[in-house]
Amino acid sequence: MLKACANLPLRAKCWAVKIPLSRVYIDDAIKQRILAAVDSENFILGKECTAFEQELAAHTATKHCVLTSSWTSGVHMLLLALGVKAGDEIIVPSHTAFPSVEPIVQVGAKPIFIDVDESYTLDVKQLESLITPRTVGILPVHLYGHPADLARVKAIAEKRKLLWIEDCAQAQGAAWNGKKVGSIAPYGAFSFFPSKNLTVFGDGGCITLNDDAIAEKLRMMRNHGRKDKYVHEFVGFNMRFNEMQAAVGREQLKHLDDFNARRRQAVVWYRERLKEIPGVQLPIEREGCTPVYHMFVVQVEKREALAKHLKEQGIGTGVHYPVPNHQQPAMTKLYKDLPKLPVTEKIVDRILSLPIFPKITEAEVSEVCQQIGAFMKKSEKAMVTV
Ligand SMILES: *Cc1c(COP(=O)(O)O)cnc(C)c1O
Repeated sequence: MLKACANLPLRAKCWAVKIPLSRVYIDDAIKQRILAAVDSENFILGKECTAFEQELAAHTATKHCVLTSSWTSGVHMLLLALGVKAGDEIIVPSHTAFPSVEPIVQVGAKPIFIDVDESYTLDVKQLESLITPRTVGILPVHLYGHPADLARVKAIAEKRKLLWIEDCAQAQGAAWNGKKVGSIAPYGAFSFFPSKNLTVFGDGGCITLNDDAIAEKLRMMRNHGRKDKYVHEFVGFNMRFNEMQAAVGREQLKHLDDFNARRRQAVVWYRERLKEIPGVQLPIEREGCTPVYHMFVVQVEKREALAKHLKEQGIGTGVHYPVPNHQQPAMTKLYKDLPKLPVTEKIVDRILSLPIFPKITEAEVSEVCQQIGAFMKKSEKAMVTV
């Protein structure tokens, strides 16, 4: 740590990060797989990609998995393949990563923002009131790795004949009533961005589904609408995946269940220690859900001050997300009738993501909690003396 600081100009602030917010898993086996992929002299959509698709489909328990260049490109293609068009509306939580919203807008449809409940996933009680004659779909997000309340979403989607897509970008391996996310709705969308639970060493994503025709269409669409090498059936995209990343992903997938179990263990350690500290609100686990804690998010009154204190102690934190999507400039420029979402607007000032990654140790979790305890005590005292 000190060595890294030695190269910096004296005046530069250098907080050595002792415990980062997240950490990508890298090992020699993965590095070897990359070299082997290079030696194969196959670079795009080859054997590694085919095998990765089969292994992902098996892990999710779906018939098909179609690899894409990212979650965002996968959902963009999926919405086009399903015929979503200008004037259509899709219900999506505001409290999610901005990309959840982008493909909806890119195909000309309108995102209808819904508030979240205490699980940080869409508040299904509000779903029916948001449905209009223009509604064509619902995009529940399994935020922070916690499955959304899919029973109500499924019932409403089926009754109203709406398409629904699970945003599984933060929840790979999570389960809902014993089923893996991505296999419950007709379509699941995943991301392998290097902070997610299953990562590659770059961008990537996939769509999981059982529908043969849509799977075939997506495979063609990601590859310039190709039917075969020289025949283009329709105008598509280049949203392909590549062999080196597939090799990395296949190696990471071997560890995914173990890594998710480790994340859950880290949360057990966090809960044991944080429940003693007043003023720290812990996340809930809804019955029937097995979340995979892409993030471990607590709520506190003095979020910024606590984040600063932790940073000074070498502890990384994050805020996911400080600006809700219905208040993003990209949205306020496009739409004049954006809703007020009281829960989302309240929590964005209180949420703080604490360090979590598969290899985090009990000692590291203890240190984070000790520092939170010390900060809370200090700020309590400050309140009393005021
Ligand atoms: C990361 C993320 C995305 C976007 O994934 P990309 O692969 O970067 O396009 C979408 N939704 C959620 C909830 C995410 O966390």
